Amino acid sequence: MYPKSILQELKSLVKIRINSIKTKTMIYYNLKDKKEQVTFKTATIKGQGKEKGLFFPNVIPQFEKDFIENLNHFSDEEIAFQCMKDFAGNEIPESILKEIVSQTINFDIPLKKINDKISILELFHGPTLAFKDIGARFMSQSLSYFLKDEDKKVTVLVATSGDTGGAVAHGFYKTSGVNVVILYPKNRVSPVQEKQLTALGENISAIEVNGTFDDCQTMVKQAFSDQEINASLFLTSANSINVARWLPQQIYYLLALKQWQKTNNENPVICVPSGNFGNICAGILTHFRGLPAEHFIAACNENDSIPTYLNTQKLEYKKTVATLSNAMDVGHPSNFVRILEIFENQFKNLQSTVSGYSINDDKTLKTITDVYTKYGYTLEPHSAVAFAALEKYTEENPGKKGFILGTAHPVKFPDAVEKATHITIELPESLADLMNKEKKTVEINADFEELKRILLDKN
Ligand SMILES: *Cc1c(COP(=O)(O)O)cnc(C)c1O
Repeated sequence: MYPKSILQELKSLVKIRINSIKTKTMIYYNLKDKKEQVTFKTATIKGQGKEKGLFFPNVIPQFEKDFIENLNHFSDEEIAFQCMKDFAGNEIPESILKEIVSQTINFDIPLKKINDKISILELFHGPTLAFKDIGARFMSQSLSYFLKDEDKKVTVLVATSGDTGGAVAHGFYKTSGVNVVILYPKNRVSPVQEKQLTALGENISAIEVNGTFDDCQTMVKQAFSDQEINASLFLTSANSINVARWLPQQIYYLLALKQWQKTNNENPVICVPSGNFGNICAGILTHFRGLPAEHFIAACNENDSIPTYLNTQKLEYKKTVATLSNAMDVGHPSNFVRILEIFENQFKNLQSTVSGYSINDDKTLKTITDVYTKYGYTLEPHSAVAFAALEKYTEENPGKKGFILGTAHPVKFPDAVEKATHITIELPESLADLMNKEKKTVEINADFEELKRILLDKN
């Protein structure tokens, strides 16, 4: 016989499953402790599970054949809704989910041809010119829907090395019930990025830290475990681990395929510039649901622990090194465990679906120069890493072609782009306004007590 406590635990698990089938609720389990099972709402509000474990859906819902084979018969909004509906289950009413997904993708996401073999999905026409806008917009709207009937005020606390903070700030701008506090390292984000963090005002506050990104992140982690802070504030995080930021990234793989199929018969090789591996993991998930793809490529800079693993089956996380594509400077990518889960830890299957390449800074700059002179297209460092990786793959595998994900606008990384092309990149009109606005920040030292005082004052 099992001890009583285990029986009780098993019974409650069965109950959750049965209820989830009856009510069409997707259940998410903690990858570190499968006994922790939560709804979409809880996963969204909590961000992560016990022991910092990531949540993962207990079913990978399949696309209807009629849908995936006829994407061009569906509007972009309908595609986005079909993509997300099973994950939100009945926790967000259909009509509201439709509104949320329409808001999530209400800017252009064009697939453009660079040369005969390589196209680019431009994901950078959103409000902060970064692909992170898509996940952040979906998450902020879902969170504010879930909080609407609770009378708590939530504080979203994030540390950013540049892009995340802007997308999160914009996503939550003027959202009632939510305050956003962003920590960033002084003098270490680009001018455009800084304005995106500091000029919004309203419910968004920016704290400029005399220190590094790692200092910011350490202070944020300390805040999450500080009793006094947690007694007076309801803190939540908006990093890419949150399922409400991770899952909506599937949407644009479908939108890309819809465009791809207009001019191509063969399936695309999909190449994703990768740091924390949330983006490529969403793509692979979409593939498991039925999205046709020839192959996936994880394109990394010199932070190459995953490409090394894919080549040797030796998984060894390394210390982060600084590169030109700094949003991908991640030594220990947190979403990789989700990829292993999708493949049920079967290395051979993983290896036959995903390849990894590591591209150094010299090659990155050379790629920006070459692509600009040969094809007149301006890449920024992250997309350049992806271009170089896909180019290598197509050389090694003649006859294959595909697309890269363009994750940021070149104007966000002007130093590298100007160095490689000798052109000055013009600010898009949407930014001209922002650049004229005043920067508002509080400056602190890399001292947790200073952060704590500010947070407690806010209450
Ligand atoms: C965040 C980011 C990436 C990496 O995305 P992951 O989902 O963390 O792999 C790539 N490019 C840019 C510009 C980014 O901001």
